[in-house]
Amino acid sequence: MAHRSDLNDDDRRFLRRSVDLAREALEAGDEPFGSVLVDADGRELFADRNRVAGGDHTRHPEFEIARWAAAHLTRDQRARSTVYTSGEHCPMCAAAHAWVGLGRIVYASSSEQLTAWSEEWGLAAGPVLPLPINAVAPDIDVTGPDPDLSDELRRLQARLHGITLTP
Ligand SMILES: [Zn+2]
Repeated sequence: MAHRSDLNDDDRRFLRRSVDLAREALEAGDEPFGSVLVDADGRELFADRNRVAGGDHTRHPEFEIARWAAAHLTRDQRARSTVYTSGEHCPMCAAAHAWVGLGRIVYASSSEQLTAWSEEWGLAAGPVLPLPINAVAPDIDVTGPDPDLSDELRRLQARLHGITLTP
């Protein structure tokens, strides 16, 4: 668990933005996940949200970021960038992130949390194991989850699955 003090003002701003993108995805009928690619000077380069509602379940924002970065950034720019994401990268996206040589990852909620919520709500497990990023890509600098934002994401996930949360 990350402490709030691990995050600077830019981290908080871009994590907030990733959660806003997750909410936007849910409101557009998609799964609530969003991600932002930020360069070494703190400028947003690219952002996206989940787009799996059309049936292609590889349309995760972290995967889109990896492909965009491979096409548009130098090796050095990729290594010095940060990806902020509402939910920790899945193994597919962690692998893509590592293969294109992107830098640090900051996430608002972890795969472990998402798995616990899904189990609590009796949902079926997905087809891919919810491994942590560093189990897939051991050299990536990872920070997360954020306790306040992860609670907000729990509520978005509950809405996605039609779960009524009792306080
Ligand atoms: Zn993914």
